[in-house]
Amino acid sequence: MRLKIYTFFLLIPLCLGWAMRENNPSGAKIPIFDSTSGKIEEVEPVIKSEAEWRNTLTEAQYRIMRQKGTEAAFTGSCPIPPKGKSGIYQCAACGTDLFRYENKFESGTGWPSFWEPVSGLNIRLKEDKTLGMQRTEVLCARCGSHLGHVFEDGPEPSGKRYCINAIALKFSQIPDVSKTEKAIFAAGCFWGVEEAFRQYLGKGVISTRVGYTGGKTQNPSYEEVSSHKTGHAEAVEVEYDPSKISYEELLDIFWSIHDPTTLDRQGPDIGSQYRSAIFYLNPRQEKSARGSKEKLNAQGEFKGRIVTEISPAQEFYPAEPYHQQYFDKRGIKPACHLPQKER
Ligand SMILES: [Zn+2]
Repeated sequence: MRLKIYTFFLLIPLCLGWAMRENNPSGAKIPIFDSTSGKIEEVEPVIKSEAEWRNTLTEAQYRIMRQKGTEAAFTGSCPIPPKGKSGIYQCAACGTDLFRYENKFESGTGWPSFWEPVSGLNIRLKEDKTLGMQRTEVLCARCGSHLGHVFEDGPEPSGKRYCINAIALKFSQIPDVSKTEKAIFAAGCFWGVEEAFRQYLGKGVISTRVGYTGGKTQNPSYEEVSSHKTGHAEAVEVEYDPSKISYEELLDIFWSIHDPTTLDRQGPDIGSQYRSAIFYLNPRQEKSARGSKEKLNAQGEFKGRIVTEISPAQEFYPAEPYHQQYFDKRGIKPACHLPQKER
């Protein structure tokens, strides 16, 4: 009996840790408007520890988004789509759709300005009395990151001016339908993972490249990533034709080529750069990725619980040329990547 009680108390912090990792400590979902599907989706809030935020955001992003800083006027770069194209500005911390390019206007203030958010659901407003002013703070509804402020001196039709730090936004161009898509996976040493996806060249996979993503260092080198200080994972970016191979089929390949139950490890390769991760590029991919993980866990497909990280894609830094198509170029069979069939 005593053992059972101990086990119970031991399990509480373990479960809490697990929940934090899964970004859903309470289990309560929130409604967020998804501009790709045009629907309101129930999603888990993104909750991270300060250490995790420091690890995933750049120093400047952390200062502004998590410590409510403000970038100096006219210093932020806010990309705009090519002529005739459109796009969405998303939260740089969690990927939530925030503002449409169409609703951006030139305010002359030195900060990106919008007269309307994608949806009132996707932002949260909060009274801000700091600096001796009476302002309304704008936060991301999903991750709580500070974005900027909203003022009542904007243009018609809303009369509002959402004054947002450029560094808190990432731009996502609305893709043409029928075009190719990308997917990013991490499943241990990227030489073998790339090789596995290259088996589907001509069957829907158009190209692959290996690189580093999911961390904070810009343009990292292989040595820096190997030192575990960048937070990046060795990853593979797969360009594919969704009319020939679906994202769900790519997920099946991903799950079949590694052991997603070992934290920060694949076989003999140990370190966070070898972690199992899916970096989704849109809400559709996120939904499929989470769904497939839940399904495999429920089916008990693997011996242990799946620890695969599912996060919004950040900048993908291509690895050095000698890492690209490593096995193809050398005509050798994958050695560092061991497909895990032990289930
Ligand atoms: Zn966010």
